[in-house]
Amino acid sequence: MKFNTKLIHGGISEDKATGAVSIPVYRSSTFHQHVLGGEPKWEYARTGNPTRAALEALVADIEDGTAAFAFASGSAAIHTTFSLFSAGDHIVIGNDVYGGTFRLVNKVLKRFGLEFTVVDTRDLDAVEKAIQDNTVAIYLETPTNPLLHVSDIHAIAEIAKKHDLKTIVDNTFATPYNQNPLDLGANIVVHSATKYLGGHSDVVAGLAVTNDPKIAEDLAFLQNSIGSTLGPDDSWLLMRGIKTLGVRMRVHQENTQIIYDYLKNNDKVANVYYPGDPESEGYEIAKKQMHGFGAMISFELNEGLDAKKFVESLNLIDLAESLGGIESLIEVPAVMTHAAIPREIRLKNGIKDELIRLSVGVEDDTDLIADLEQAFSKI
Ligand SMILES: *Cc1c(COP(=O)(O)O)cnc(C)c1O
Repeated sequence: MKFNTKLIHGGISEDKATGAVSIPVYRSSTFHQHVLGGEPKWEYARTGNPTRAALEALVADIEDGTAAFAFASGSAAIHTTFSLFSAGDHIVIGNDVYGGTFRLVNKVLKRFGLEFTVVDTRDLDAVEKAIQDNTVAIYLETPTNPLLHVSDIHAIAEIAKKHDLKTIVDNTFATPYNQNPLDLGANIVVHSATKYLGGHSDVVAGLAVTNDPKIAEDLAFLQNSIGSTLGPDDSWLLMRGIKTLGVRMRVHQENTQIIYDYLKNNDKVANVYYPGDPESEGYEIAKKQMHGFGAMISFELNEGLDAKKFVESLNLIDLAESLGGIESLIEVPAVMTHAAIPREIRLKNGIKDELIRLSVGVEDDTDLIADLEQAFSKI
């Protein structure tokens, strides 16, 4: 089955009990057991719920995994994944990861004795040099948020295998439409499904996917033990979102290419960050490991131009955190999504105060360009 067909027919495509084409929302916390001490398929909804299970089967299919796990948020998926490790274990982590992941690592996981070394995962030598005797995993995002840096998943997974480490990839920005890290050698993929997979800015959810039976067993245990699971209503919403991922991504990406051309030729813009920019460092790797370049684009205004005035002048494009919805969303990372990162670290990582991140929606491209144009005219 090709990817776009899997989105519709993957996983469990009809409800066994009724034949319903749309898997029903099973809003039940417990399930009747016909035999005392038997092994019923469903017993308690934290452990397993048929609606969540249908979502998980679909997600395993579209990420080319064997098992998927749905959580109450991307952060919960990431936290549960890190819970595979124990005090004293060391993890090599990318320097441009999602701000909330940075906060989770520094303010929570370190208190529980996990150790981290932060590296630029584009630099394979730096990744290998950061490996210690107690290293258990390499954790990366590609493309990253918000600078859209691209790291070579296959090359990193090869380094990991050589040292008997797990490779974990946050695939939120690329989506499985563009990139399947498990096929490139990664062991676990995590998602904030709040973004493109949900796709309509109406659900907060997270996923972890693997193709390794032992990791699947451990994640199932942790999902049930920690309990940050996704409820049946949100599981249903997310499944509905995923079905249109293919059609949405095609328009998202067409629009992004048009906006890229517009920004690249705009003399108020100092830099454009987009994996599809042939002049960008990551372009060749992106072409090799991605099927498309995604719909996230970041740009810096010329020094001295007012990013605040620019984003506040937009009429159509929403000034808001988050990304991946059908509506175009814009934000200033320094003030919004990445405010949790101390300024000097942020600047060192290349996130300037003038940096603007745009999640390109599926509106008509001429309306988006007109809105950008009028906002540029105000600065
Ligand atoms: C949003 C996001 C997260 C966190 O997901 P939530 O659903 O908001 O908890 C993790 N990684 C990336 C890349 C994200 O964009």
